[in-house]
Amino acid sequence: SAEVVFVGRSNVGKSTLMRELTGHSFSTGKKPGVTRKPNHFDWNAENFMFTDLPGFGFMSGVDESVREQIKTDVVRYVEANAEHVLAGVLVVDGKSVVDVIDRHSGPDEIPHDVELFHFLEELGIPAVVAVNKMDKVDDRDERLNALCERLGLYPPWKQWEPETIAPITAKRGSIEPLKEALRHHFHEANRDDL
Ligand code: GDP
Repeated sequence: SAEVVFVGRSNVGKSTLMRELTGHSFSTGKKPGVTRKPNHFDWNAENFMFTDLPGFGFMSGVDESVREQIKTDVVRYVEANAEHVLAGVLVVDGKSVVDVIDRHSGPDEIPHDVELFHFLEELGIPAVVAVNKMDKVDDRDERLNALCERLGLYPPWKQWEPETIAPITAKRGSIEPLKEALRHHFHEANRDDL
């Protein structure tokens, strides 16, 4: 069955999104510093498996070494399962992601989100960026274009819809663009099998 992995910094709304997608209310190991094991869910009759990977990046009260370990675990999981992963969903906070990327860009630093995006691509896994919390974003087109630029995707963002950029508001259940992206990749993968 097709596996879709979900990655993202902590607090971007990944648990909220997983809950909306699956209808499951589940414990997400909210306690900071607890290395969460991948959570698996089934979705739809199409036999999807969703894997919710631990959130990474800054978490207050969590040691740098623990944060690094979580990210290493996420990377290892994706590498080990790359062959049957249909898509990788990178969940970001639409309101802050561009600023966070810019703050962490430097000669010796690649921001987590940019790194993960390219990492998925290098493994041949189609990356979908679920740009969450769009309810907090006023300058929608500008924000999404700026994000595309940071990810090396040529603007305008609209041309990356539906397969790569999916603006959503998980909290209000407005996640149709992401569902469309997943359907797109599901059909692409099945076409390749023919
Ligand atoms: P996770 O750490 O990535 O799993 O994030 P959570 O799902 O726990 O959400 C973190 C915070 O963001 C919570 O306060 C959520 O209510 C909030 N949140 C999640 N989705 C949205 C959204 O679409 N819009 C807004 N404004 N807040 C959201």
